[in-house]
Amino acid sequence: MTKESISKRISDPAWKELTKLIRKRDKNTCYKCNKKGLQIHHIIPFKFSKSDRPDNLITLCQSCHTKIDHEYSRTGKTNYIRQMINCAKVRNRRDE
Ligand SMILES: [Zn+2]
Repeated sequence: MTKESISKRISDPAWKELTKLIRKRDKNTCYKCNKKGLQIHHIIPFKFSKSDRPDNLITLCQSCHTKIDHEYSRTGKTNYIRQMINCAKVRNRRDE
C-alpha cells in the first residue's frame, strides 16, 4: 500500500467513525500497557488481512504501536499472533 492511499484511508469519515467506536470499546486505553491509547492498530496488518472489522482493530498508545509494528517484522507472524493472544488473555482477566 502506498503512503498516499493510507492517508486517503485515514481521512475517510467512515474510518474516523469506526476508530471512534473502537476507542470507546477499548475505553481509550492501550491494549498492551493500559496507558491512555489513541492509535488504532490492525491486529493482523491490513495488507495481509484486508480487514477493518472491529475484531481486527485495537487501541494502542504510540510507543506500543511502534513496538508492535517492529515485532511483526522481527518475530514473524506466528510469534506475533501468540503474543497478541497472550495480551487478549490478560485483558480478558482484567475485565472480569
Ligand atoms: Zn501501550
